[in-house]
Amino acid sequence: MHIGVGELIVVLFVAMLVIGPDKLPETMRKLGRGLHQLQTETRKLTDAVDADVAEPLQESVNQVNSGLQDALHPVRKKTTAAGTAAVETWICPSCGNKATGKFCNNCGAEKPEIRQEGESL
Ligand SMILES: [Zn+2]
Repeated sequence: MHIGVGELIVVLFVAMLVIGPDKLPETMRKLGRGLHQLQTETRKLTDAVDADVAEPLQESVNQVNSGLQDALHPVRKKTTAAGTAAVETWICPSCGNKATGKFCNNCGAEKPEIRQEGESL
């Protein structure tokens, strides 16, 4: 809710009529103090909610996220390995040609099962 200047003036005018001009300053002081206290309490409550709810929640989210990353890791690795295998070139031991895929493009010999550098188990 947003109170504009015009509304504030009306509220102050009505307050002056109801409370009276002599008591108005004291009432406004009390109101100000009350608002300040309300702000302080709200901040305390927000901090408490942050500490008791938001932080553990964030922790859970992080855990789920990290678990998800762990679960996805082998899938990503396989996907990457499959992608790499498709474009990976190797030297055919039979004819010495550069070959791609599972068989030599030149002589048709099968790719030897040798781990290439950069490829981990
Ligand atoms: Zn070959």
